[in-house]
Amino acid sequence: MLASTRQYTFSILFLMASALIISVAVYSMNVAHRIADVHAPLVDASMEIQLELTKAHLLFEELMVGDNHIDMQQVLQHIKEAQWFIHAMAWGAKKDGMTYVPLDDGAFNHRILRLGEAIKILASLMDKRLSHQQTSLPGSRADEQFNGHYEAILFDAERMKQHLMQLISEERETQKVSNYVGLALLIILLIGVLYYNIMQRGRELLLIKQLKEMATHDELTLLHNRRSFNKVFNNAWYNALRAKTPLTIAICDIDFFKKYNDTLGHQAGDMCLQQVAQVLQGILKRETDFVARYGGEEFVFILPVTYAEGARWFMDKLHKHVAEAKIKHPASDVSQYVTLSIGIATCTPNSKEKCILIEAADKALYQAKAQGRNRTVLASS
Ligand code: GH3
Ligand code: MG
Ligand code: MG
Repeated sequence: MLASTRQYTFSILFLMASALIISVAVYSMNVAHRIADVHAPLVDASMEIQLELTKAHLLFEELMVGDNHIDMQQVLQHIKEAQWFIHAMAWGAKKDGMTYVPLDDGAFNHRILRLGEAIKILASLMDKRLSHQQTSLPGSRADEQFNGHYEAILFDAERMKQHLMQLISEERETQKVSNYVGLALLIILLIGVLYYNIMQRGRELLLIKQLKEMATHDELTLLHNRRSFNKVFNNAWYNALRAKTPLTIAICDIDFFKKYNDTLGHQAGDMCLQQVAQVLQGILKRETDFVARYGGEEFVFILPVTYAEGARWFMDKLHKHVAEAKIKHPASDVSQYVTLSIGIATCTPNSKEKCILIEAADKALYQAKAQGRNRTVLASS
């Protein structure tokens, strides 16, 4: 439930981050489009205006000083070209594979149209000077007035170009920032995905560990379970068979445990099992010694390389520890505290038939019960 909520939250965050990255990428592409398809052609157009006007001016000056190769038509052709670019900048047009798109800026478009008007005036000033050629030769007042007007137009065209270049550099700056933002978001997203996967893997490993623990351990007492006992006993048997060493099994059973439950309740019975399990676990010293919950109120020890005498000594110590734990048993016939009956069987394995050892320990336990409980009986070999 918690995991699926976490997964759901992560999916939502993942989608949001992806949507954000896509938006930044689209924005960046849009800026790039504005630079390449809108601003750059307009810069080009403003330069063309300057160029055409400069050509017109030069030709006109030549004409005024009496150059016979030049006529007014040639001058006006350049003026017309400049006006074409004015129109393209203000209203949009296509030429030589280049598309001119007007800026979405009323004030700027108004400036372009004013420039167009100024060029018209320049053309009419040219006409006037040509018809009064003698009084408007270079250096005359009319020439000065004409040049002033021409310079003002060029200056205006230059300012328009500068304005457009400024727009381009601002757009480039925002594009750079949006690229960095997109990159940062992408890195955050990748780190997030990586972190989530690592956490997920960690949770899986923990779950696997818990499942393994559940498969080999008893939930109530936390001791190894019967399944684990079978495996360990099998290995211990074959090790002893190979090494020709003794192997001891001891089965311990709580005395009058049914009565314990009946008197103190099932929950108290569970706690009693946990306390006894702690005593059993606590008594283990050797690495190879092993204890498991065999079933119900029965526990089993595997004591490799241990002879009967050693096992008896070990079990006497166990009786003592259980007695010292002083777990009250008001319904017991043998003590006021919980006691154990234990059956021990020892052998040095010489065949693969290992069940006999457990059967013998079980029989010895039965005898311990029959002899009055709270004692250990060693199976006769
Ligand atoms: P004896 O001295 O002969 O061993 O008698 P006993 O009453 O201990 O043995 P018996 O086999 O008659 O009863 C065992 C009882 O253990 C019965 C069962 O309810 C109780 N028991 C088994 N497993 C659990 C458990 O996990 N929790 C609790 N509370 N009781 C359990
Ligand atoms: Mg029993
Ligand atoms: Mg019992």
